[in-house]
Amino acid sequence: MAAIRSFARSINKRGNATHFMSRTSTNTAGHRVGLIGLGNMGASMAMNLVNSATNPADVCVYDVMPGNMEKLVSIGATGCSNAGELASKCDIIITMVPATAHVTSLLKDADGIFANARKGSLIIDCSTIDPIASQNLAAEAISKELRMIDAPVSGGVTGAAAGTLTFMVGGSEDDVAHGTPTLDRMGAKIIHCGENGAGGVTKLCNNLSLAISMIGTCEAMSLGKRLGMDSNKLAEVMNTSTARCWSSDTYNPVPGVIENVPSSRDYEGGFGAALMEKDLSLAMNAATQVKARLPLGASAHQLYGLLCENDLGDKDFGVVYKYLMNSYKPKHQ
Ligand code: NAD
Repeated sequence: MAAIRSFARSINKRGNATHFMSRTSTNTAGHRVGLIGLGNMGASMAMNLVNSATNPADVCVYDVMPGNMEKLVSIGATGCSNAGELASKCDIIITMVPATAHVTSLLKDADGIFANARKGSLIIDCSTIDPIASQNLAAEAISKELRMIDAPVSGGVTGAAAGTLTFMVGGSEDDVAHGTPTLDRMGAKIIHCGENGAGGVTKLCNNLSLAISMIGTCEAMSLGKRLGMDSNKLAEVMNTSTARCWSSDTYNPVPGVIENVPSSRDYEGGFGAALMEKDLSLAMNAATQVKARLPLGASAHQLYGLLCENDLGDKDFGVVYKYLMNSYKPKHQ
């Protein structure tokens, strides 16, 4: 608790550090970049690294599921057999795995990054994890003469595929500047939020708001549907009215309203409901420690927990709509 309070104070003190990093023209051709965690997000991010590399073999990849490396290796990326091998080959090491425990083991295991990275290498953790853990891991990295920043993302799978992600970055000015040209190859916006952990705090606040707006969109769209409203028409009006938000105009949770988003492929290949439950759990823990009240956050956390209990954890977080539509079937419809 004291840790989060003093962390909050340290971020506040550095409030004036928040700014947009300008896109730089720093040449990263000499850097070998590695990406660990080739899931819904990481696979597309690695693809953008390969596509922007002078030599595709300068991009190293690793995933515990070897099948996830195949596509990237087939276009020239270098596949590695564990995180340590990747770390020993790269100057910039990116992690994009589900949660705090995965990042911690990737860094600290005997065949992991800390034990095998070359001195001065930069670790960029793009996963959404506990910001206090990010701070502690960065301190440990520094004690091993490594550099580390947290750079969680927003933009979803569509942003990852298009290379238009927003990176919320926490770390020293020097380390963030060092990582910016690489982040530029995968995203459209890089925002330096403060020191280590500040990227994670920003991400948790963003996802708290996102969960609530997604649930709001799902409730409105399901009510409209039950009242006999055409979903496309309702979305069209909402998207030019005061209810407009990313969940309604870019990632609508009703199947068929927008092509090529997870709801239109039975909620596959998006941002898993279990990952949203994890982010809300991190936000609720942080809130408890600084005595912040999150009444809607608590309800959202409960609802995503319920989805996981109903075997919907692997489905995209817009699956709330399907859950609402299926959980109660009126007799006269
Ligand atoms: P995912 O579950 O689809 O992918 C995670 C990948 O990591 C999998 O391929 C898994 O095999 C691999 N992995 C797990 N442990 C590993 C280990 N020890 N070594 C190597 N590989 C390992 O998850 P995702 O949707 O890509 O999300 C990744 C992170 O990004 C999460 O922290 C999530 O909260 C965050 N995020 C996701 C989205 C989204 O829309 N999916 C958006 C923003 C942020």
